Amino acid sequence: MFINKDRLASILKELEPYGAALVAVSKMKPAEAIREAYNSGQKIFGENYVQELVDKHEKLPNDIEWHFIGHLQTNKVKFIAPFVSLVHGVDSLKLLKEIAKEAKKNDRIINCLLQVHIATEETKFGLSFEEVKDFLKSPDLVQLKNICVKGLMGMATLTDDAEKIRSEFKELNSFFNEVKNYPLPTVDCRLLSMGMTSDYKIALEEGSNMVRIGSAIFGERS
Ligand SMILES: *Cc1c(COP(=O)(O)O)cnc(C)c1O
Repeated sequence: MFINKDRLASILKELEPYGAALVAVSKMKPAEAIREAYNSGQKIFGENYVQELVDKHEKLPNDIEWHFIGHLQTNKVKFIAPFVSLVHGVDSLKLLKEIAKEAKKNDRIINCLLQVHIATEETKFGLSFEEVKDFLKSPDLVQLKNICVKGLMGMATLTDDAEKIRSEFKELNSFFNEVKNYPLPTVDCRLLSMGMTSDYKIALEEGSNMVRIGSAIFGERS
């Protein structure tokens, strides 16, 4: 037993009323653990490291939807471009352009989320609300025909203060609703990726429709 099947089932039940999708975060966990979750019906997995993702993609069934949720370096985009389904952490136009270039080489469209900085910690990656707006207004974006901006992703401050977490998610959700209808051919903003093991319940209450959960399903990472 690599995974907590009861917890997986209960999380899926909790997500139902919100119509939210589960990204099972399998970073640093063996392929066998993913296979076990896959066999019980989970098809979307999230990984943070390029090489690990490439190895797992080779070993595991083809109908898995792989999401890259880590910080993606431009020089590594080419390794995941042939198969990645969604890149959660895009926080620069340079990165988006590289993804578009590699997507084109692979004759596909790669879906991306813009990562927004909502936490008070300075170490977390992401764009400010103003930067996202500028980003969406950038004339370059229309030219990037091989990417589609599918929404936003954010991580709340790592804290026990539930009200702080709630207010950060609330702010991101209202921003999401503000930019949702941006009239650009390469933007189709409908996904709001927020919430992990410690805060996904709050995230759902504050409008998340995609949660990224690792340790609750796979156990603590060492
Ligand atoms: C590791 C990670 C998660 C999952 O964290 P858990 O606390 O194990 O649920 C979610 N999102 C991102 C971006 C991560 O790096």
